[in-house]
Amino acid sequence: MLAELQKSLDQRAADGLLRQRRLLDSPQAEFIETNQQRYLSFCSNDYLGLANHPHLIKTMQEATGKAGVGSGASNLITGHHRYHDLLEKQLAQFVEMPAALVFSTGYMANIGVLGALAGREDAIFADKLNHACLNDGSYYSLAAFHRFAHNDVAALEKLLKSSTAKRKLIAVDAVFSMDGDLAPLRQYLTLCERYDAYLYVDDAHGFGVLGKHGQGSLNHLQLKSSRIIMMATLGKAAGVAGAFVAGEQVVIDYLIQTAKSYVYSTPAPPALSATLSASVMLIKQGDGLRLQLQQLILTLKSHLKLTKWQLMPSETAVQPLLVGSNHDVLKVSAYLQGKGILVPAIRPPTVPKNTARLRISLSAAHREEDVIKLAHMLNDAESALA
Ligand SMILES: *Cc1c(COP(=O)(O)O)cnc(C)c1O
Repeated sequence: MLAELQKSLDQRAADGLLRQRRLLDSPQAEFIETNQQRYLSFCSNDYLGLANHPHLIKTMQEATGKAGVGSGASNLITGHHRYHDLLEKQLAQFVEMPAALVFSTGYMANIGVLGALAGREDAIFADKLNHACLNDGSYYSLAAFHRFAHNDVAALEKLLKSSTAKRKLIAVDAVFSMDGDLAPLRQYLTLCERYDAYLYVDDAHGFGVLGKHGQGSLNHLQLKSSRIIMMATLGKAAGVAGAFVAGEQVVIDYLIQTAKSYVYSTPAPPALSATLSASVMLIKQGDGLRLQLQQLILTLKSHLKLTKWQLMPSETAVQPLLVGSNHDVLKVSAYLQGKGILVPAIRPPTVPKNTARLRISLSAAHREEDVIKLAHMLNDAESALA
């Protein structure tokens, strides 16, 4: 086995696919420090700049003083602290859903929910560009797994029409993590009503960013239905860690009993929930941050003067620049790094073959001049490399 593993790693390196972890010596912020060097960063999903917010740091310190550092046991034994409970009630109210349940990570939420709501006799319908953990949740559920072309409503309808599954679940990203575009959720909801299906929406990149006061993609599109179950992560715009699922009370009650990644796992520390409660307040009051973010998106688009590389159509904080080959995208990323700017190169299997891209991630923590600098460096990079 060991020789096989080495061979596989060597092959990845030869294909330009070996991934490396950057060692960080600073908090997530507009500037980050690595290898004793300071870089302007367009890498994190901290879209509102909350990951290093002084009020949240203080809240975490004080809550730790009151609740300790560990949860001690799963929620269903003695690990369900008042801070966990308050956060769930607050999240449900914020997204205007009857109830919510907090998981330790988004990955665990998706595996837990899909595993609990779908089984052998059921079917899950998924966009081909969904996040990896929605796929993993589908495999884990043992339900029939049908994937349709990105945002292809007609293809989905065809699949739904011919399905004889007992329970049908459409599971999609609301904002696609590597493309930044939105799913046609309104059309999906219509299909749910027509074919007696349910809609599971992963709003990892819409929560905090889109909708009234950052409520997310469903609010942005003004969608409400008892057929919708939403999930959002709390380690991105919320700036901390974790995830929640929100929906009808009966769905949440059922998940508390049956979602294994919830039942058999120790929850994140109560102090983290207290910090998240403070973060949700900041999101709610963060219209100024969201305005700043929208302004930065416009700034990037208006200052980029590229002829070969293409900014993908996106109105969200995720602004991918399509470069094409793995080796080329690594070259651009290295060029920018040489100029003191970090932008991650995203390659297969995270994205389809020959669509390697720079994933430019904007945050309210950025200043106008930072984004102008990035645009100018990208213009220079294209002249120098393409
Ligand atoms: C990041 C992400 C997840 C996973 O969430 P974590 O809390 O990081 O585990 C799930 N779905 C989508 C779409 C994501 O972008």
